[in-house]
Amino acid sequence: MNTNQNSDQNSDILVTKPYLPPLGEYIQELRELWDTAILSNQGVKYRQLQKELQQFLGVPQAELFANGHLALEAALSIFDLHGEIITTPFTFASTVQAILRCGCNPVFCDINDYDFTIDASKIEALITDKTTAILPVHVYGNICATDEIGALADKYKLKVIYDAAHAFGETYRSRSIAEFGDAVMFSFHATKSFHTVEGGCVVYKDSSLTERLQAFRQFGQVLGTDSFPYLGGNAKLSELHAAMGLCNLRHYAEFTERRKMICSIYARELGNKPGIKLSYNDPSIKRNYTYFPIVIEESGTGINREMVLASLQNHHIYARKYFSPLCSNFAIVKQLSSSGDTPMAKHVADRVLALPCYDSLTADQAQRICQIILDLYK
Ligand SMILES: *Cc1c(COP(=O)(O)O)cnc(C)c1O
Repeated sequence: MNTNQNSDQNSDILVTKPYLPPLGEYIQELRELWDTAILSNQGVKYRQLQKELQQFLGVPQAELFANGHLALEAALSIFDLHGEIITTPFTFASTVQAILRCGCNPVFCDINDYDFTIDASKIEALITDKTTAILPVHVYGNICATDEIGALADKYKLKVIYDAAHAFGETYRSRSIAEFGDAVMFSFHATKSFHTVEGGCVVYKDSSLTERLQAFRQFGQVLGTDSFPYLGGNAKLSELHAAMGLCNLRHYAEFTERRKMICSIYARELGNKPGIKLSYNDPSIKRNYTYFPIVIEESGTGINREMVLASLQNHHIYARKYFSPLCSNFAIVKQLSSSGDTPMAKHVADRVLALPCYDSLTADQAQRICQIILDLYK
């Protein structure tokens, strides 16, 4: 028996797996911290990563946080939002929890069937005199209809805060994705396209908001003073986390290139299969290739999502139902807000599957995943 091959066949493949820089590079970064013993509070690693990210994202300002969720809460809090925020139900729980925790009500808008982002043509009908902001999500790295959303925001004087947790490093029509909206949140969680283990950032237009963002992160304090005029908690990114970010940013292009290879295998093998729908690949997006969702349409084939999921699981491959259930179905959301139907979001949530996609997945493994799915259709 070829045990090597056997162990490869039997090892679990999860939907994602964090990448790690060469250990020596991280130790090199840490050595300086051992010299200074400054481990948090916007030290030298924080400031260097902040500078490098501003350059990378092509923006003049970015504040970094302990995680993406708190970065999103910070982004909402600096605009003193109240009342209703229009968002998508087809997202990670964080988006909607951030709205609730800022004392606002989420109002759910349906999504497009081709890229699963918020359906901009349905937003205007949801705007009331209570609406203060729109919080769209660039889900799976698909970019929302930024022009239409921006025009609505201008017309009704609303803030636009993008949840760009999935869209780090992307460009849209050759512009950095960080340029759209009043504020943009990126997550640097270990499973995202760029990571600091845990971390996140807010990119924002109005430089007068810097003080408030920093105060949100550090107990309401105006940094460098004895004054605590704002509400704030602790959302600081430690020096050890920032050091990880410095290492990972150096390898970003290389990791992205490998995920691109995986996505191209999936697209080639599954692209023209009746019953399997791929997300629209908008050529004006330069992508980060972190997610590969497929939608399993049962009608005409008799194959449904649960069958695909189970078949993959039999081979120790764990695709995930991202994003199901819809956020609008959470008990806490139903308790605190009322919302209408979003039939397209429901349709997709009932049928979507995110396939394993990460840099260390091999071409052979991706091929095998496709074959297991295609075998179901024989
Ligand atoms: C990951 C994620 C978040 C939260 O980011 P964390 O860094 O995990 O706190 C928010 N929104 C979406 C869409 C995400 O995928």
